[in-house]
Amino acid sequence: MEVISEQHTDFARALGKVEASYRRRHPNSEQRQALAARHMAGGNTRSVLYYSPFPLAWHSGRGNRLTDIDGLDYLDLLGEYSAGLYGHSNAIVNGAIKRAIDDGTVLGGPNRYEASLAEAICTRFPSMDLVRFTNSGTEANLLALSLARLAASGRRRVMVFDGAYHGGVLDFRSGGSALNIPFDWIIGRYNDLEGVRSLFAAYAETLAAVIVEPMLGGGCIPGTAPFLQLLREQTSRYGSALIFDEVMTSRLAPNGLQGAIGIEPDLTTIGKYVGGGTNFGAFGGRRQLMERFDPSRSDSLAHSGTFNNNVLTMAGGLAGLAEVFTPAEAVRLNQLGDRLRDRLNADARRRRAPFMATGVGSMLGFHFMDYTAPLLRPPTYTAAATRAQRSIETLFHLELLEQGFHFARRGYIALSLPTIEADCDGFASAVDAFFAARGDLLRATIGAANSEN
Ligand code: PMP
Repeated sequence: MEVISEQHTDFARALGKVEASYRRRHPNSEQRQALAARHMAGGNTRSVLYYSPFPLAWHSGRGNRLTDIDGLDYLDLLGEYSAGLYGHSNAIVNGAIKRAIDDGTVLGGPNRYEASLAEAICTRFPSMDLVRFTNSGTEANLLALSLARLAASGRRRVMVFDGAYHGGVLDFRSGGSALNIPFDWIIGRYNDLEGVRSLFAAYAETLAAVIVEPMLGGGCIPGTAPFLQLLREQTSRYGSALIFDEVMTSRLAPNGLQGAIGIEPDLTTIGKYVGGGTNFGAFGGRRQLMERFDPSRSDSLAHSGTFNNNVLTMAGGLAGLAEVFTPAEAVRLNQLGDRLRDRLNADARRRRAPFMATGVGSMLGFHFMDYTAPLLRPPTYTAAATRAQRSIETLFHLELLEQGFHFARRGYIALSLPTIEADCDGFASAVDAFFAARGDLLRATIGAANSEN
């Protein structure tokens, strides 16, 4: 018991110290949070952006650097949760958006860009014969799911995986969100082949679709090739639609993760960076499914959205995909991420720090645990261990933030195109110094939490 309380004290002291320094250095962000809370619950309009004691508010960004409203500068390793692939000031993307603004917005008709963006997307992701635009990834997934349910006449059920995030009303992390839309969900275990087989055995006749992220964004946990192949095989056999949610993962290889693993889903959803840094989502796939949206058909499905073809998104997205995020750039950026992940993992092992970096290419997830085997799904913890994990994440996040490295509190990085090797080296050195200074404390804190149960 005494050892446990000693660890608590040491840890609380370290956390208290960094929080005090954080408050001292960011008075404007603290004040903004208080003012924002007058008209927005908790000062927030996007839950993921909140962290304790208050989030930094940004004044501006250039390339892969951010400046907060207290005038401090950061290396941006979060890349707007992967939507900021192009960085904050790409001349080609922003130039295209500026030209579109100069030519007039809200035109109320088809514009000069949308067909070219559709062509660029269908060329890049060949499983998409036809594509439709939406305003967000959430909306793209809702439309893809509704289309799949309609096409599978009479079947209502949808298989989804524990730990998945498909949008604000399609959130299956930590047991699922109370805000989720009331579809008839069948919830499977990610990367569990036997589990998938038995779910198909039980529900195949009533299953309209399976929706899956080829890599779980929450925790950056890749789907194994046999798992994703089994989903393809079973959906084909039983006549359900396979939907790949590549809202995050489409950037991880020249043709998305589906290209890298060689699987063609029936429908794919994308979003984030594909809009050039503006609001975006899209869904597309097999012609036979998508052509139902042809408005000249007598049985056409109507799907409108005022900003589906917003000129800013269409122009910025097209310039980005056609001229900036070329297949070669996709390879370069993802190799940079692979090297960073390998280095962080090697440093953690050398320092005997309980830390593991997961993910694919330019997206990394951090887990404060020893590496024993690749993670197959988000780890589950007891209540005490969960509290310890949250505290460690907070300490790590604030200490690195104070040194000028910005990433998500949950331990998540999405590299943006302006990032160079020297940026990754600087971050890796800072993390290594954290391992050296805090490794023993982390290990003791995790040990103490485990012995509490
Ligand atoms: N699917 C995945 C895999 C995502 O990561 C996200 C966004 N984090 C979404 C869907 C939802 O996209 P949006 O935030 O644009 O609604």
